[in-house]
Amino acid sequence: MNLMARRKGKSQRRIKDWKQRYHSQEHFEHDEALRGRFTRKEVKLPDRELSPGAEDLDDLPRKEGMVVGQFPGGATVRVEGQELLCAIAGTYRAPEGSTALTVGDVVTVALTRPEHFEGQTEIDKDRSEGVILERQPRRTALSRPSPRSGKRTDQYETEVFEKVIVANMDVLLIVAATQQPQLRHGLIDRFLIIAERGELSPVLVINKIDLAPPDEQLLRDFESLEVEILPCSAKTGDGLEGLMERLSNKSSILAGASGVGKTTLINAIIPGTNARTREVRPSDERGRHTTSNPVIYDLPSGGILVDTPGIRELGINLDQTELTWYFPEFEAFADQCKFRNCTHTHEPDCAVLRAVEAGAIAPRRYQSYLNILETLGENRG
Ligand code: GDP
Ligand code: ZN
Repeated sequence: MNLMARRKGKSQRRIKDWKQRYHSQEHFEHDEALRGRFTRKEVKLPDRELSPGAEDLDDLPRKEGMVVGQFPGGATVRVEGQELLCAIAGTYRAPEGSTALTVGDVVTVALTRPEHFEGQTEIDKDRSEGVILERQPRRTALSRPSPRSGKRTDQYETEVFEKVIVANMDVLLIVAATQQPQLRHGLIDRFLIIAERGELSPVLVINKIDLAPPDEQLLRDFESLEVEILPCSAKTGDGLEGLMERLSNKSSILAGASGVGKTTLINAIIPGTNARTREVRPSDERGRHTTSNPVIYDLPSGGILVDTPGIRELGINLDQTELTWYFPEFEAFADQCKFRNCTHTHEPDCAVLRAVEAGAIAPRRYQSYLNILETLGENRG
């Protein structure tokens, strides 16, 4: 492909001094939105100013790696088990219509420190450890849709700018508990929509079965939607083998309300992890206090599990009539509604409403639909 040729030509240009890039963020000048995004991110920052290293990127060995964290002006990339603090090449361009870099992105890195390829042990700590040259297209993307501006351009076009939170994950692991806290089926329905939109396979984990059995009706509802369900107890270990098997060699992202047992699950399936010890820098001289970078766990059976605070803020931004298509069991009926843009709330001759009344659609799911529909209305102002 000519991508290779293009990259080779571009990387002839010398990368700028790290220090300058680090402070000025000038390489994001072409994209205001991205600049804001990167400056707010808090990660494992380099503890000193890094110089870019080699003069000519073409002379350096290249490796593929996965972005595991971001900091202003750069990203931490996992390359063959090592986490490298990487600068971003001045020649780097995100594929068109896409955000620059996010956790989970697969990138090509030029290794700027000789010890990474010559087996040297002496480390020059003032250099960045790699330079990101390009990234691969994303297989999947879990994004937070947010209106680009406060209002829409017209009745049918949603002007949405997607902020990708995590790329290339396979599974959205939705954790709920049988009780303590009470199961919020509406939240599960929302995560199912988010999974569908991100092209991830949803897996519903119902934890704390030692306290109570899972609700039969709820199981039937989700089973009829062909959602995979794994009941388990992080406390007794019941069902965890099945869970580990499901996650093995996959990239999964963890979701669920607080208190349902996500941390306990991580500790149970990943021996030697203390999931409580989230790496948070207290603060640094630039005054950043919080981290929004995900924590990435390696699974003993292969694969990774990503725990990101970002997922809790995920909203759903859809056109009201679009919402129907995220409730697959409505589909057959929605086709028969009198109005093509029927919202299935008050319209005359609505086949979905008739189906709810006849018991062909679970009332619980219809209620969820109404709740989400209402929030969409608010978003639109
Ligand atoms: P998180 O907020 O989702 O990370 O939830 P935690 O892992 O912190 O768990 C919240 C509480 O539920 C803790 O007191 C755990 O000990 C408890 N817990 C977690 N899993 C189970 C389980 O399977 N059974 C019971 N009985 N308690 C659990
Ligand atoms: Zn209808």
